[in-house]
Amino acid sequence: MPIYLDYNATTPVDKRVLEAMLPYFTEKFGNASSRTHSFGWIAEDAVKVARQQVADLINCLEQEVIFTSGSTEGINLAIKGVWENYQSKGKHIITVKTEHKAVLDTCNALEKKGATITYLNVDREGVIDLQELKNALTPQTILVAIMYANNETGVIQPIKEITDVVHTYNSPFEGGQGGCFLFCDATQVVGKINIDVQEEHIDIMCLSAHKFYGPKGIGALYIRRKDPRVALFPQIDGGGHERGLRSGTLNVTGIVGLGKACEIAKSDMWDDSARISKLRTRLEQLLTELPNTFINGSTKNRLFNTTNICFQNHRSETIIKKIPNISVAIGSACTSAVAEPSHVLKAMGLSDEDTYSSIRFSLGKYTTEADIKETIETVKNAIL
Ligand code: PLP
Repeated sequence: MPIYLDYNATTPVDKRVLEAMLPYFTEKFGNASSRTHSFGWIAEDAVKVARQQVADLINCLEQEVIFTSGSTEGINLAIKGVWENYQSKGKHIITVKTEHKAVLDTCNALEKKGATITYLNVDREGVIDLQELKNALTPQTILVAIMYANNETGVIQPIKEITDVVHTYNSPFEGGQGGCFLFCDATQVVGKINIDVQEEHIDIMCLSAHKFYGPKGIGALYIRRKDPRVALFPQIDGGGHERGLRSGTLNVTGIVGLGKACEIAKSDMWDDSARISKLRTRLEQLLTELPNTFINGSTKNRLFNTTNICFQNHRSETIIKKIPNISVAIGSACTSAVAEPSHVLKAMGLSDEDTYSSIRFSLGKYTTEADIKETIETVKNAIL
């Protein structure tokens, strides 16, 4: 049996999620916008329940959640939506060199339209420097886009400290020329660890169901309504669904699945994380016993399910060929077709050689002790 250790790329759908979704493909197939009959009302009710389930998981109001096709769309709406509405206030956006390509490519597209983008550095651990962020903020900064945790290394940024800096040094509440929002790509974190958008003062945040046992092609964007109110410029027109921010017939089955995945995560998250974290620790302890092997990124602030290991002097592509029954990743899934060194590991100061020798293992709730035992043996045999 192949062993799946690529949960940061995607996860299997939880059976309880699938069960919740199934009736909405068949007997409850209505369009949530059909106001004139019960088929529509049933779908509309299901969407309302799901919106509340998402809101409960991240501690916001249900009116602050809009459904998207996933994080890539959420990221585009957040960044381009702020840019189009606030560029008269300023044309400066701050992000980080280790962001997901969905953020970097979106920023790159805006650069071509006249935006000035600052790409913050990270240290060897993968973490940004708050002083560098402070220095980068100007009265023209309209958005700071920083991910919660990195998909390749699992490294977690100090989001609360970041939002404090952003809101203290360039507070949106002060009016005038100053003011900027904090957008957080929390795709790898929602459903894994508790996020409270109030407590952490995040203004906009994206999430994606397929990263936490929901279906692919559905996600949500949290958009703060108060203190400060964030107004985004829509990127998809046509009918005014989702409060005019994202037109198009709602993906009711997907939305029901996302809602159920949120509900399950809220109740199971703590137990799952304790168990998975033990397995991850065992995996990396035994693998780093191999000579010239080290963990990429901070081991203090990191997702409990992820380890990115450099096996120096061994090409990861060669290792992968020798461990065909173990599904792991080199770089991120979205870019692993491109034979370039990982931009994340490069930004952390690794040499090209070391980035080409690094492998990401990401565990999930269906990972067993036997999987980890076999992975350790197989990888050791491939290297020694
Ligand atoms: N952001 C991060 C950190 C991710 O890991 C991913 C998926 O790999 C995305 C964004 C894109 O998410 P989606 O697949 O929902 O478009």
